Amino acid sequence: MSAANVVMAARAAGIQLRVEGDDLLLEAAAAPPPAVMEQLSQHKPAIVLWLRPREDGWSAEDWCAFFDERSGIAEFDGGLPRAQAGDQALACCVIEWLNRNPECSLAGRCLRCGDREYAHDPLLPYGTEPTGHAWLHSNCWPAWCASREAKALSALAEMDIPAPDKSPNDFEKKQRRTMAASWSAALGGGKKCLRPPIALTHRSPLARFPFRRL
Ligand SMILES: [Zn+2]
Repeated sequence: MSAANVVMAARAAGIQLRVEGDDLLLEAAAAPPPAVMEQLSQHKPAIVLWLRPREDGWSAEDWCAFFDERSGIAEFDGGLPRAQAGDQALACCVIEWLNRNPECSLAGRCLRCGDREYAHDPLLPYGTEPTGHAWLHSNCWPAWCASREAKALSALAEMDIPAPDKSPNDFEKKQRRTMAASWSAALGGGKKCLRPPIALTHRSPLARFPFRRL
């Protein structure tokens, strides 16, 4: 069972999960089923990795939720076939990853080839003001851009976001997309750009009994 599935089962059992350092904090209004607790304990390291926010501020769960949201909107609102909706969602994830993981450099050297600028080949700034610029020769930009996209795809694949050549019929992905569609419908037909309500459960008032730290 994957970390995502264990988390899903735990939440279905009324358990709230939170990561603190390397620990997994659990809260529930009633004693959780022993089988769920066993799965949580067994998969704790993977669950911590799944739930812990990365340097870009999003956890693997957040990234997968974003993918599912975009994919669900493309498929159910946009009418795209599932595979095509998945490709479009992946493209959205790549753009979001690039925005959240900017690369910048000092002016005067090309970030790609390391060479200086020349009168006939100036260094140009790429990027936006808040995060700074990457300075590149215009001819170096395509290769740099391709390497950035490859990094994004690699990072997303590590977080279980399907690459274009993977089967779109994978059960877990299908399950997540179905949930995304349900959330979309429950939240007003999916016309708005909404995060899946996983985050909403964090705000649910629950009695702190029993409290467990795994
Ligand atoms: Zn260059």
